[in-house]
Amino acid sequence: MTSSISADPLVGRMRPFGTTIFTEMSALAARTGSVNLGQGFPDTDGPPEMLAAAAEALRSGANQYPPLPGIPALRQAVVAHEERFWGLTRDADTEVVVTAGATEAVAAAILALCEAGDEVVCFEPYYDSYAASIALAGAVRRPVTLRPGADGRYGFDEADLRAAFGPRTRMVLLNSPHNPTGTVFTTDQLTLIARLCQEHDVYAVTDEVYEHLVFTDSATPHVPLATLPGMRERTLRISSAGKSFSCTGWKVGWATGPAPLVSAVQRVKQFLTFVNAGPLQPAVAVALALPDTYFTTFRDGLQARRDRLVAGLTDAGFGVLPSEGTYFVTADITPLGGTDGVDFCRTLPERCGVVAVPTQVFYDHQEQGRRLIRFAFCKREEVIDEAARRLRTLARAQA
Ligand SMILES: *Cc1c(COP(=O)(O)O)cnc(C)c1O
Repeated sequence: MTSSISADPLVGRMRPFGTTIFTEMSALAARTGSVNLGQGFPDTDGPPEMLAAAAEALRSGANQYPPLPGIPALRQAVVAHEERFWGLTRDADTEVVVTAGATEAVAAAILALCEAGDEVVCFEPYYDSYAASIALAGAVRRPVTLRPGADGRYGFDEADLRAAFGPRTRMVLLNSPHNPTGTVFTTDQLTLIARLCQEHDVYAVTDEVYEHLVFTDSATPHVPLATLPGMRERTLRISSAGKSFSCTGWKVGWATGPAPLVSAVQRVKQFLTFVNAGPLQPAVAVALALPDTYFTTFRDGLQARRDRLVAGLTDAGFGVLPSEGTYFVTADITPLGGTDGVDFCRTLPERCGVVAVPTQVFYDHQEQGRRLIRFAFCKREEVIDEAARRLRTLARAQA
């Protein structure tokens, strides 16, 4: 009898998801002593009030399972924050669930709402966990390609979006402000998405982890899809403390929406992680209640670092696409003679000691992102300046 214990026991639907490019590029950064602008995590701590609250909670016994939906103080803070910034009013007892980061909220939403074979309309390039979560659910992704227009801002063709909807469509999964492009969806784009969601009677799941990171020169403000007419009742809105408060290792996220949607997510979530980050939950409640100046100062600081990196990339000779928000900026390698982002990123560390990630890994249609690479600027000013200095040497090498 042959054994059913095989060399690679991984289920088929997860096989396409190998080691991520981040692992490869971070190892390369370490080996070559490069400035790592590949992965999007800050290298400074978040607001001191939040850190103090976490330390206090750890010392004062908040170390056991919190309630399944999250501690009341955090749920109330999520509701107050959503009303303050986006004018959405929710019931903290039935319309909020705290999750292990936005990642778990997205996974639980897909697992809760999609039967095998149901389709999820999403926009490529997309955050890497989306495809894996859709595959885990046995659902099918229907990517709509975002392409840079004449002004460099990314958009989609209405015909492509319409064609992605069909009888098996269950939800639209939308990330704005958008990683990796740094584009913020306009109200016109959102209105079209909203209209199609209603025409096809499907849910929307929105990943808004960069809700506070829209720069002052963005062509459009951030508009949560849930605030558009007819969308509140069918939208699950997801966010997280990680990006807004520079604590990506905490993995405290949340989902808000109508009670039936939140309940569905919670019923799946209870068997994924049940709960998480007990002593960090009161600290995130403190952070969400920080005055508006915290959020604007944080954004302005990041915008200044974006500008310093963009100047370096421009001087180096890259084509630089506009970054209106998030932690990221996209650069076109064509002017530097590059034709493939993966090859380019593999050699960049030895050429100038900087690590970036090829955008093509975020596409199903990889040729769409072949010449684009992504840099993170959520790093200390001196790190950004050193990266910019090193990148400028590319121009000299080229000349
Ligand atoms: C970073 C990121 C996440 C992950 O958020 P966590 O709270 O760390 O799980 C989700 N979506 C996007 C678009 C991100 O950039």
